[in-house]
Amino acid sequence: MLYSNLRDAKGQPIAIRCDGGRIAEIGPALSGTPDVDGGGRLLMPAFVEPHVHLDKTLYGQPWMASTAGPALRDYIDNERRVLAAQTTPISVRAGRLLERMLCYGTTAIRSHVDVAPDIGVTHVEAMLELREIWADRIDMQFVAFPQTGLLCRPGTADLMRQAMQMGVETVGGLDPAWIDGDPDGQLRLIFGMAEDFGAGLDIHLHDKGELGAWQIDRIADYTEGAGLQGRVMISHAYCLGMIPERQLERIGRRLADLRISLMTSAPAETSIPPVEPLTAMGVTVCCGSDGIRDSWSPLGNGDMLERAFFVAYKYDWGRDAEFELALNCATHNAARAIGLAGYGLAPGDRADFLMVDAETPGDALCRRPLARRVVRAGRLVAEDGRLL
Ligand SMILES: [Zn+2]
Repeated sequence: MLYSNLRDAKGQPIAIRCDGGRIAEIGPALSGTPDVDGGGRLLMPAFVEPHVHLDKTLYGQPWMASTAGPALRDYIDNERRVLAAQTTPISVRAGRLLERMLCYGTTAIRSHVDVAPDIGVTHVEAMLELREIWADRIDMQFVAFPQTGLLCRPGTADLMRQAMQMGVETVGGLDPAWIDGDPDGQLRLIFGMAEDFGAGLDIHLHDKGELGAWQIDRIADYTEGAGLQGRVMISHAYCLGMIPERQLERIGRRLADLRISLMTSAPAETSIPPVEPLTAMGVTVCCGSDGIRDSWSPLGNGDMLERAFFVAYKYDWGRDAEFELALNCATHNAARAIGLAGYGLAPGDRADFLMVDAETPGDALCRRPLARRVVRAGRLVAEDGRLL
């Protein structure tokens, strides 16, 4: 397949030839008769969603405003009630959301999947089935996520091990101090589990200020001890936006050395890991949706172009280099953070890319047009918001 009449980030003509699902050739002018006329659209790599909770979504269900709060534990308890009352299966709700995400241009996803004594591994079973169904259109990785707590919920660790045996790739964690009240206990357990399974980790850390920063240092210690460099992600890490510059500098250097990546959903109401200084230190910072239209909040629509926009909006960015950094958080950085192989727009990479009706990456980010053609493994799979 030859896709021609496209433009690169600098506005220059570019064409792309795909063979066997991979990019065979990319350049300003490729020989041969084009199969698809790009109509002068902007060529971009497909989006990577590094942090979502597909199993919790109420996507396509009747409108439900948030009724939970104010404490984290209230949200967790409320979610158990809401999800237990659902009669539409997880696979249907999550499947609708996957379809929407693909139409927006996302072809790889890491989803946390709840594991807890009240639900066992039922969410994992549903997500593994869904992964089979969507395998040719979206790459899916899973994290065994102890949403209701780990040490404070006896039985959860065994269920997480069961989830890993079933085919979940990554060990999850949740606020070792705030939720379990035993940071070393939780970290020892989950890092031990990761070593047993030869897996990486992805830890939700909402704890703020000094308590959060102290746990990041502990996570770095455990990463170093277990030799898990490049296999650990810390999700949220609000605390990094709250600590003094010199402390951020020291922790940032450590994260870069150990290749521990950071994920932010770029929330408006709290601080986030400072994207520019951390990137300059060599830390991989990516952005993700987190919950989409679930019992925590009806906010979110699965569009990674919008999520990257939230990063730019958070900092009131306006320069092209800044918009490209925001987009990187939803593309290259997200791919690196979840260890996605063969990602990019170079020969040999998997041919997952977008043709967006925009002048430049910055223009795409600011307007977030739905006029996007989505190519997955060399094949056109969605066009202007519709699945083909
Ligand atoms: Zn999350």
